[in-house]
Amino acid sequence: MSRVNVFVLIDRSIKNMGSGIDPKVKALAIELIKRAYHEGINVQITSGFRSYAEQDKLYAQGRTAPGNIVTNARGGQSIHNFGLAIDYVLVSEDGTKAIWTVTKEWRHVAAIGKSMGFQWGGDWTSFVDYPHLDMQRGMSLSTLRSGKRPSIPNVPARQYLGPGDTGAEVKLKQEQLTKAGFKTAADGAFGLDMEKNVCAFQLAKGLQVDGLIGPDTARALETGVVQASKPKPSASKPAPKPKPFVPGGGSIVDYLNKQGRDSSFSARKKLAAQYGIKNYTGTAAQNTQLLKKLQSGSASPSKKINTNSIVDYLKAIGQPSSFEHRKKLAEKHGIKGYKGTAAQNKKLLDILNK
Ligand SMILES: [Zn+2]
Repeated sequence: MSRVNVFVLIDRSIKNMGSGIDPKVKALAIELIKRAYHEGINVQITSGFRSYAEQDKLYAQGRTAPGNIVTNARGGQSIHNFGLAIDYVLVSEDGTKAIWTVTKEWRHVAAIGKSMGFQWGGDWTSFVDYPHLDMQRGMSLSTLRSGKRPSIPNVPARQYLGPGDTGAEVKLKQEQLTKAGFKTAADGAFGLDMEKNVCAFQLAKGLQVDGLIGPDTARALETGVVQASKPKPSASKPAPKPKPFVPGGGSIVDYLNKQGRDSSFSARKKLAAQYGIKNYTGTAAQNTQLLKKLQSGSASPSKKINTNSIVDYLKAIGQPSSFEHRKKLAEKHGIKGYKGTAAQNKKLLDILNK
């Protein structure tokens, strides 16, 4: 089963967002899909703009029409009616099934959205709405109804090219891949074939195999030389040889065994998922990638902090532990009348530290 092409996810999402979606919200939504995809998460937008009539129809669901209640907003009362909101869902590896469970990956998509300026419905307490992201930006619904619109941030830049990217820069990389011996169609669209070729190129050059073109891979593509920007100051000492690639991936097993950790296939599969390596089948390339990630400690998975104290927990994650801050957190997480009692602190800790 091969992974769904990112362009399929983007195309479906554009259709689902509707023509009334704000163009800047749409651009951010597409970037959200790509960034999640680069981290091994398949996400799709299920809804965007809704007309007042469509909203009224949705409001009727579970009230005067069959189904479950999905909204408390009538026409004109939802941020969707102004083209400023999107709803998302995770989809299966092959892209055929929607997955509605709110997992670590689901929350990670929310975090990406929030980093781009979206407000997440999963942070709400009165009506928690996990699929929802919007750009209300503090503007009231009545102001929106009067025709005013908030200012929406631009798509933030990133330092690499990856699946879903299009344009002249992608086309140039495709031509460089072909020149390097990895024949890639120069269509200017970074799809599955290009990703495969980037991985093959990275493997051949001893680079981290992640299928993304960051500074190192870009430099290697341009010059055919890895780390050309760091010439050795002295010629007397031969440059250290890059570590040879170990076929079969024995090295990751050795690495885990040395640390006294489980090196079984299922344990490695779990680790791979935590480090954003999707569809782990234990190939040599995946094992090399996983080993590099473990050794560098990059993208280390979120860890449960071992403490019984809310104050210690907040300090550990670099947040203020003052009463005022805890009270704010408590309210946000639905703990009413926070006075800092042991029971309330324990409840808050249980909610935060999971
Ligand atoms: Zn929504």
